[in-house]
Formats: sequence, C-alpha cells, structure tokens
Amino acid sequence: MTNSQWQSRFPKQYAPAYEELLAFLPAKVRSYFISFNDEMNCTYRVYNKWQRYENDFGWVYGYCRNYRCELLSVSIGDDCFCVLGIEVRDEESLGLALQKAKEVYESGYEDRYARLVAAKKADQIQRTRVRLAREKEHMDRLKETLDPERFNRFKWASKVSRSKLIRLYQSEAQGLLDENLLDDVGYSFYTRCKQAKEARKAMEKGQIVCHTCDKALMPADDTAVAFCPCGYSYTYREYRRSCNAANMPGGRADPVFRSFAEKWPGCKSSTEKMLLIDWLVHECHVTIMSGEKGRSVCVNLIEGTHAQLRDMLEMLAGHQL
Ligand SMILES: [Zn+2]
Repeated sequence: MTNSQWQSRFPKQYAPAYEELLAFLPAKVRSYFISFNDEMNCTYRVYNKWQRYENDFGWVYGYCRNYRCELLSVSIGDDCFCVLGIEVRDEESLGLALQKAKEVYESGYEDRYARLVAAKKADQIQRTRVRLAREKEHMDRLKETLDPERFNRFKWASKVSRSKLIRLYQSEAQGLLDENLLDDVGYSFYTRCKQAKEARKAMEKGQIVCHTCDKALMPADDTAVAFCPCGYSYTYREYRRSCNAANMPGGRADPVFRSFAEKWPGCKSSTEKMLLIDWLVHECHVTIMSGEKGRSVCVNLIEGTHAQLRDMLEMLAGHQL
C-alpha cells in the first residue's frame, strides 16, 4: 500500500480531523469507509476513537471500546483504506475486510474486553480501599487528641415521614385540617430547607456551620480540624460528606427548596401554609414525573425509597385518600 500523499499531507504534528480524513479519501472509497465504520459501530460496538501516529503508516485509526480495547486498526492509503492486511477500494475488498473483522471479533474479543473491564474494576476497588484506609488512619489519629463526643457530630434537620404527610392531606380532604400537623410538617420542611441552604452557602466559601451553635468556621483545608469556641470541632470533608449522605436539599431543585424556605415564615393562615406545602409537594411530584435522570428531589425532604415516594406522590396527586 502506498500512502505517501497521506503521510505528507498529515505529518506527525498535524492530526487530521475526521472531516479531513473523509475529504482525503476518493469518493468511492469514502462511501466504503463509511459503511465499514457503520458496521463496526452497530455490529461490534467498537468506535473509531483511538487516532494515533505510527512511523510506517502515519495517522491510523484504532476501533475500540472503553479502556482502548482494540478490535482492529485502519490505516489510510492514497487510494484505499487498509484493514487487517486488506486494501479496501471496491465492493469485493470491502466484503473481505468485513469478513476478516468478523473473524477477529469472534476469536475472543468479548472475552478480552470482559477481562479488561473486570481488571479495571478490581483496580478501582483496590485504590478505593487504599484511600479509605488512609483516611481512616488520619481520622483515628485525630480522634486520639480530640473528644470523640464533640468531633464531627452532625445534626441535620430530619425529613418528614410519609405517614405524617398522608395524614395531613387526609385531614385537609375531609375538611378538618389538622393545624398542629400542618405546622409540624411545614416547619420540618422549612428547617431542613433552611439548614441546607445555609450549609451549602457556607461550603461554597470553604466554611462549615457549627451544628451546636451555628457559628461559621473556616477550616484551613479539607481535612484540617476547625475548632469552634463552643467546644465542638469538625473537618470540612466529613461535613460535606455528611451533608450529602443525609440527602440534604440541593442540586437542580435548589430554587424550589430556597423559595420554600423564604416563603414559609411569611405564611400566616392555615390556607396559605397548606398551599405552600402543596406547592412544594407538587414540585417534587413534577420532578419525579418528568423522569429526568438523577436523584428525585423528594428524597431530600421525605422519608422513604424512590419507589415508596413515587407511590405516595401519585396517591396525593390523584387525591385517592
Ligand atoms: Zn459551635
């Protein structure tokens, strides 16, 4: 195969873009190349994503999956492209190249890929294990000098139970709104939204809000201990992790939570309170229904699994009480 034009057109320091590759190939060869490419994508799920320079052939294209698990590579000639020793320039040679590709695929590609994925996974697990051991050692050392009862003690405002919310809606539907329950539920949502808002605002600035006295603390770095005058101490990393593990409100529905926290103190009548709670629940419901990827926002506020919350919200929305 000669490819002096290809090599002089695209020297080592100039990697051709995909469009340039297509433009370089003669029209007929280009259409064969596109068919070949489609076949690789659809049948074998390998993709032209490992472009590299080789001294003998110039820029070549590796067809692979993740971790660069390569099925074959394609080199470019001046009037053809070359796959597994076959120069493709007409229907017949394209057929041969596809046949060869099939043979290579069937001689153990999937096994090779599976082994690679397993090895990478094991490697990842091992690295996580090492990191966790290192973090634990660091924490253990800190605990030796600190009072464990006053170190990284987090108190996040609790979620609302499903049964309370259902009882509230039932009492409202029966025309006997339970005002104590209304305040209880509303205030719980409010406390949680407000605490999350303040915690996230502080974290954006690298700060921690003390869970005992509300003072803002500024730790030196991720794992340095921040001492609060009230006697408690914290590390930023554990604070952040604990906030996320507690499913504190945040993320894409943040404006909804913030808005609730701002409006709740201004609600005076039971009707206003119930409307605001219903608005919040409705917003959660819409987010669940829209089927967007990611975590549902309800788990930020209400106890239960995603499935339990979906069932409950559908029930409340349908008023099947
Ligand atoms: Zn404090």
